[in-house]
Amino acid sequence: MEQYWSGSAINKNKGMVENLQNYGIIKSRKVAETMENIDRGVFVPNGAQPYIDSPMAIGYNATISAPHMHAICLQLLENYLQPGMHALDVGSGTGYLTACFALMVGSNGRTVGVEHIPELVSSSIKNIEKSAAAPLLKDGSLSVHDCDGRQGWPDFAPYDAIHVGAAAPEIPQPLIDQLKPGGRMVIPVGNALQDLKVVDKNSDGSISIRTETSVRYVPLTSKEAQLNGE
Ligand code: SAH
Repeated sequence: MEQYWSGSAINKNKGMVENLQNYGIIKSRKVAETMENIDRGVFVPNGAQPYIDSPMAIGYNATISAPHMHAICLQLLENYLQPGMHALDVGSGTGYLTACFALMVGSNGRTVGVEHIPELVSSSIKNIEKSAAAPLLKDGSLSVHDCDGRQGWPDFAPYDAIHVGAAAPEIPQPLIDQLKPGGRMVIPVGNALQDLKVVDKNSDGSISIRTETSVRYVPLTSKEAQLNGE
């Protein structure tokens, strides 16, 4: 499903969350609470309607994902975002999901966003400062870094949860290496046609991969290729 609702009838973050619950996309209390607490309105560029179910341009050939995609990823990762766990958000863009992850793992956990457009790193930090995750940024349990996310962020590995917000032609090996045994990565894989893959690292280090749904994300690529719209 590409879009569950449109139009401006939903003008509050709470209304958006209720819609996602009514459509059965948000299934758990924890994900509902997290999305209620992190106001999407803070992360969407001025002038855009934050609560309709649509991706939106954020500049630099990037988009903030639609609310239903954020909800699907939070549901898939919920068990891997328990208090105290480590989470990595690759292609963190606006910082919306990074903030959600930080709220879920809390100040005893560690949440890292990595993004290769420096302007988006700066604006995402400003967005997070306006959100319920601001205290976690302040206490250092949440940070956002300017780097090529295909290399992950080894400093706080291994991660219980890794989310990739851009589609990779194949799963980058450094991200598999930085996933904890027992951990889960959610990553769109493909070029024109993409599948959202759920990658579980088993306790013996082996990998199980399944397809959740077909999706359309911007590519996980080099900064130059992205800015040239390749
Ligand atoms: N989850 C984000 C998604 C933003 S779109 C949100 O909803 O706001 C995908 C993001 O991935 C873009 O911001 C883009 O700049 C970033 N990206 C693409 N390739 C990347 C790479 N190699 N390293 C880091 N970030 C990358």
